[in-house]
Amino acid sequence: MSKPTTKCWIDTAAMMAIIAEANSKYPLETGGVLIGYRKDNEVIITDITGPGPNANHQKIYFDVDNKWTTAKADKIFDATEGRLRYIGDWHSHPDGYCHPSVLDVKALEKVRDCPRALTPKPLMMIIGHDFSKWTMWELAEMLRPLPLQRFEFNREWAYA
Ligand SMILES: [Zn+2]
Repeated sequence: MSKPTTKCWIDTAAMMAIIAEANSKYPLETGGVLIGYRKDNEVIITDITGPGPNANHQKIYFDVDNKWTTAKADKIFDATEGRLRYIGDWHSHPDGYCHPSVLDVKALEKVRDCPRALTPKPLMMIIGHDFSKWTMWELAEMLRPLPLQRFEFNREWAYA
């Protein structure tokens, strides 16, 4: 069993992009994918995507445009020779708490248990209704929240 993750860092520009997207679709749900890497016991989010043009936005439901977000994540993976990769998902709960729903947990289990995805400990970030609250969840053996801190990601490292 691997050591538990202790902390999550998120690039400030990526965080601002999440808030802007969540705001623009309110009161509907929206989301996208989280891209980054793991180092030691920490996880670093460097990039995010929006929902894509064919996403389904409802008040208490959201379905990402999977084809579009996968293409975006693949592009970053290739450009960074695999240093940055798909690491989880994010979505908004416009009128709810930052806690995963039963369906959210099922979606996370699907990612965790899919050997092809190579994401054994997927993340799910949920941004709450006033956009100043968010929680990063990780599903390893159990679902649990991770401490989240902003930072400025140095892009030169990944694209060298
Ligand atoms: Zn949800």
